[in-house]
Amino acid sequence: MMVTDSEKNAGKTHCTLWRKAGLALSGPTGETGEVMNELRWYYPDSLDQVPSLLDREDAVPCGGNTLLLRTGLKRVKGLISLTKLGLHSWESNDEFYRVGATMTYGGLVSQLLKYEPDSILVKSLSQAASCPLRNRITLGGSLASFPIWSDLVGPLLALEASVELIGRHSGEFPVSDYVSSVDLRRASLITGLRLKRVPWQSYYYRCGRTVSDHSSFNVSLLWRTVNFPEIADIRIVLVGTRRKYRRLDRLEQYLRGLRIDELRGESLVRDLELPFSSSNVGSADYTAEMARRELARALDRIGQEGHYGE
Ligand SMILES: Cc1cc2nc3c(=O)[nH]c(=O)nc-3n(C[C@H](O)[C@H](O)[C@H](O)COP(=O)(O)OP(=O)(O)OC[C@H]3O[C@@H](n4cnc5c(N)ncnc54)[C@H](O)[C@@H]3O)c2cc1C
Repeated sequence: MMVTDSEKNAGKTHCTLWRKAGLALSGPTGETGEVMNELRWYYPDSLDQVPSLLDREDAVPCGGNTLLLRTGLKRVKGLISLTKLGLHSWESNDEFYRVGATMTYGGLVSQLLKYEPDSILVKSLSQAASCPLRNRITLGGSLASFPIWSDLVGPLLALEASVELIGRHSGEFPVSDYVSSVDLRRASLITGLRLKRVPWQSYYYRCGRTVSDHSSFNVSLLWRTVNFPEIADIRIVLVGTRRKYRRLDRLEQYLRGLRIDELRGESLVRDLELPFSSSNVGSADYTAEMARRELARALDRIGQEGHYGE
């Protein structure tokens, strides 16, 4: 775990690259005269070494580095590399999939395409960002940072996935608890995600001005029929709202047991209060109205798709 000279140099090389990229990292010798942080890299090679590093408070885990780079690393003094921890893993059995924290969006899509090509995560993650970024963004970094445009968190919440942590909090926790609890996130490392294997049908919609734009909001919808055409179960999550996300549990409750041919999306969402801030597509009211329209379209899709579960 000690930082070797070559590792120190690796850190310096990164600093130089970032400075060249104009990412607010310059120093006494830099071009803009700002003070550069001396970045220290830590390379734990066993999970036992991680909790004490996380407790240092001046070192943070480094996933795909796509957000850390954007935020300029101004307050970060140390980076904990996750590359030697064996977190790029994938397991599956009849009941669940377990995926390691450093698996990228692209990596997860490739795995799921073999097992469950219709998974909502295949639909959402293959639309996120751009191809090079999808091969860089990690599941752990993405869940830990949960940007409001995340194409990962809505599907995870709808799937009621759980997250595995070590550090100040160790064990398996629902993703919904993780994203709502600052305490749970503090000084904890995500080591993996666990997804139950349930034959959901799914629909995913992301609202962006262009294909590679951040989404202003996105809709994750899962449903199952048991006695077709009755809806046995349904989950609806909207990401991008004022509090980052909203699970529409009252609407879900109303829809359970309803016949698919009785669904009328427009009338179901007409009076739905959706608190948004203004977004890259328009004002708060305009974004909320767009979200209502897309939710109605999503619900109408239920009647148009085939059905599983009988
Ligand atoms: C131009 C651009 C467009 C993008 N578009 C989209 C998009 O459309 N959809 C989308 O979903 N995402 C998109 N992203 C990605 C998103 O904005 C974040 O950058 C990304 O989710 C962060 O993941 P990362 O693996 O790079 O994390 P990092 O940048 O490495 O880390 C982010 C934070 O998480 C912490 N962290 C990292 N790994 C762990 C871990 N295992 N446990 C605990 N904490 C950890 C870090 O300490 C840091 O605080 C885009 C990024 C860019 C640069």
